[in-house]
Amino acid sequence: MEKEKCPICEIGYKTEVRMPFYNRDIDQYNCKCCGEVWITQIALMDMHNIKLKERNEISAFTRERTVHKLSPLIISWEPLQDNHITTIPIKEIIDQFPKKISERTERALFNLSKLSDHMGQNITIDLDHDFPLFFCDAFNRDSIKFMLEILTAENYIKLTEHGATSSIEQASSYTITAHGWSKLYELETSHNPLSKQAFIAMHSRQSLMEFGRMESIELFVMRGLNHFE
Ligand SMILES: [Zn+2]
Repeated sequence: MEKEKCPICEIGYKTEVRMPFYNRDIDQYNCKCCGEVWITQIALMDMHNIKLKERNEISAFTRERTVHKLSPLIISWEPLQDNHITTIPIKEIIDQFPKKISERTERALFNLSKLSDHMGQNITIDLDHDFPLFFCDAFNRDSIKFMLEILTAENYIKLTEHGATSSIEQASSYTITAHGWSKLYELETSHNPLSKQAFIAMHSRQSLMEFGRMESIELFVMRGLNHFE
């Protein structure tokens, strides 16, 4: 059977497709770029009407949740709730995409830390599929290289010896620096007043579903707490 491209990024392929879901037309699949995606078929079919830049933002949302092992939220056009499912409208996902470069780099650092089992571990970045990890502006190598340069300039990550000498254009190998781990610790333990609220929410399934609707700062705080799990 011919592989079907992911309608969000149009780069990766849909794998492990599962449906139906509680008798709803929910498409669930994995994509190398976007991670685990749960989406109503109506939203999926209309994906081609959404601008590329906005699809890029949806991809960052789903990949971040996948990396952090958070339950996928069902992406829809309109809010849709019954006893079994809660959806998050596409507009809300796009609205909560981080605008500030500092937030993007910090959340990218959190994403990378989730790909690291221990300090000093090499993390291979696939330059053709890992754009969403970095909250890039576009699905291209220029964007991902730009974000990698910023993270390197901030001294959060460094190119490994292998990465520096590798002739493979498709992937680069990085490691999180001691400064990067310190930054993560600082973010995780920051005394943000939203921390408690986020922590409580994290332990409630319903609230976790609502979590997708929180403002980006709350989202970020919760990510930080979740990092210690
Ligand atoms: Zn995709």
